[in-house]
Amino acid sequence: MKRILRAFFRVFFIALLIGMLLIGGVVAGGLFGIFGDDSSFDISALNLNFTSAVYYTDSAGQTHELERLYESQNRIWADISKVPKYMQDAIVSIEDERFYKHNGVDIPRTLKATLTYVFKGSSSFGGSTITQQLVKNMTEDKQIDPSRKVREMWRALSLERKFSKQQILELYLNTIYLANNCNGVEAAANKYFGKDVSQLTLAQCASIAGITQYPALYDPLVNPDKNIEKQHIVLKKMLSLGKITQAEYDAACSEKLSFLNKSVKENQAQSYFVDQLINDILKDLEKQKGYSSAFAEKLLYNGGLKIYATIDPAVQKAMEDVFENSANFPKVSGNPKPQAAMVVLDPYTGAIKGTVGGIGEKSADRVLNRASMSLRQPGSSIKPLSVYAPAIERGLISPSSLVLDAPIDIAGWKPSNYYSGYKGTVTARNALEQSMNTPAVRVLQEVGVDYSFQFVTKKLGITSLVESETRDDGKAYTDKGLSPLALGGLTDGVCATEMAAAYAPFVNSGLYYPPYSYTRVVDSGGKTILEHKVKPMVAMSEETAFLVNSMLNSVVERGTGTAAKLSSGMPAGGKTGTTDDQNDRWFVGFTPYYVGVVWYGYDQPKSLEFLAYHPCMPVWKKVMEQINKPLPVKEFTVPRGISKVSICTSSGKRATGFCNEAGTAINEYFKSADIPAAYCNAHTEAGINATPEVSSAPNELPGGAAQETPPPNPPAGTSPTGKPGIININPAPVATPVSIPTAPPKAGDNIIHLD
Ligand SMILES: [Zn+2]
Repeated sequence: MKRILRAFFRVFFIALLIGMLLIGGVVAGGLFGIFGDDSSFDISALNLNFTSAVYYTDSAGQTHELERLYESQNRIWADISKVPKYMQDAIVSIEDERFYKHNGVDIPRTLKATLTYVFKGSSSFGGSTITQQLVKNMTEDKQIDPSRKVREMWRALSLERKFSKQQILELYLNTIYLANNCNGVEAAANKYFGKDVSQLTLAQCASIAGITQYPALYDPLVNPDKNIEKQHIVLKKMLSLGKITQAEYDAACSEKLSFLNKSVKENQAQSYFVDQLINDILKDLEKQKGYSSAFAEKLLYNGGLKIYATIDPAVQKAMEDVFENSANFPKVSGNPKPQAAMVVLDPYTGAIKGTVGGIGEKSADRVLNRASMSLRQPGSSIKPLSVYAPAIERGLISPSSLVLDAPIDIAGWKPSNYYSGYKGTVTARNALEQSMNTPAVRVLQEVGVDYSFQFVTKKLGITSLVESETRDDGKAYTDKGLSPLALGGLTDGVCATEMAAAYAPFVNSGLYYPPYSYTRVVDSGGKTILEHKVKPMVAMSEETAFLVNSMLNSVVERGTGTAAKLSSGMPAGGKTGTTDDQNDRWFVGFTPYYVGVVWYGYDQPKSLEFLAYHPCMPVWKKVMEQINKPLPVKEFTVPRGISKVSICTSSGKRATGFCNEAGTAINEYFKSADIPAAYCNAHTEAGINATPEVSSAPNELPGGAAQETPPPNPPAGTSPTGKPGIININPAPVATPVSIPTAPPKAGDNIIHLD
């Protein structure tokens, strides 16, 4: 029996000796660096931290931190400078009193712990320094066995070589578990005392510091007495280490603590912008760097990346203020309620300045952003992109070209208007102002669906249009058709962010910029790993862009978009969108500084017929007024190739004094090359020849170009032919008025013949 016992002890002493040698070796290796770096212990492979931060650039070009990125855990970051000295001392005293002296491993403590482990077969190895605990938290290398312990020590030593004590303590303070789902001292301070960590008293610091050794036991909500007991132990330790005076100790011991159970403000859900930023970066890391999605995610959250974002916090806030207040949206009974989304971007770069993906306060991270992730039917808001811009670009129409609003039947397809009846001959500008459908179909027929489709998809960056596809249901789908392109009933729809980018060329001299959310991503070593290079594409001539801009300006001045008119006098343009089935509402609009898009509808498409008003415009207006407020009012720039001439709305030709007297003369913009040469001969000295009706012709146009006064009478020798650029405008005097609404277009009418 004695021999057996002796042998038993011998084995244990050998084990102990080996253990000590091992530890000694690790320590020596750590101290002298003879092991080199532990290559598997890469910063980017950490489970926690080296948090990545998002920066924005202000209007003066200064960079500021916007926020840090966290995976969804109940953690609120507190910089070490914000954590009271009491808290730091309390933690160090109770967890690792020689923290500031060791190199990551506390040798005497480790030997003691080894002995305990070997002799008592303890389930916990114990003896961990703060650095080791941090390594354990970061790697989740939680298994208890000597070899893991050795690796943990090794990593702790390597961590101490790379980071300062302050950095290590900061990470530790932000990652320790403090019961009730609180990670880090800030979350605990919020939860138990309803304060910021910086405001805690010594007594409160000691109470929180006591939790970490055994969170279930020292949970202040479940076992307040146990917590106080532990708090006294912490205070005593601080006193014995000289961290606090006797007087401080006495005061803290006698302070009565009352524990709250506040809901932690969590990581206030990050903004929709940051959601999108994360999604964009993950996508680009996968696409451009070939990273797996798991690695990309790890790198993004824990790689200590510096992310330079395009956000303007003032714009984002203005949008959130409007969207978080449900009073800004129609009162709708039943559930679920309709939703809304908005995006604002800089038309001169494509930079996204703000995005909001839903109504109400955002409560979680990386949720559905309807501004960038939902495809919805654009309705009439597609017309400027698919009909008017390509028609003007091809030289087929000018804003004053006459087009016909009358019944149309294309192989049994009979598009109608949102209003009853038809308005007869109108100018293209009027047609867009009032969002007339049949003129849009007719103009699109002239443009051609192929050209229109290419224009929208290739020039204006709308990626969700379907060229031709047979789907799982066996049906063939295409958006290359009159109905989808003229009226916006698409196979899948469009996303608001792409709509915003597609309208930007109207503000920005015809240049298209893809929308983007960040300019640069820099890794923890300072190397740029992703970069967005702003590359404009010529979508259309600056003259075309200006003419469409001007027509969209009329929509807001006197058309269907007047509810979006800004009271500041800042010029604005835009287009409403409503689908046939009333499932979607849009307003896509711009000022000289921003493009903004608002969408409204049910997530599961359903009719909004009951709405008393168009909800997108007031929302758009509220946000735009706020974000344009600091900016000087300025007009849209009129390009050199644009002239303003007086035009007769009856004939579509140059107005004369007679047209002026007849009240049919308007000033209208033209590409200089497209100014009609012919003067109106419908109005003569003898009176008015038969004139087609024209609806609500504007007398004055916004904009800065010089206006032309019509000549008193037709100049001699005027060419009888119209200038190219106006389709099918019959230069001959109009013989018969177009009767409304029944008369179909007849040959010889001064209109576009399309059926
Ligand atoms: Zn005339």
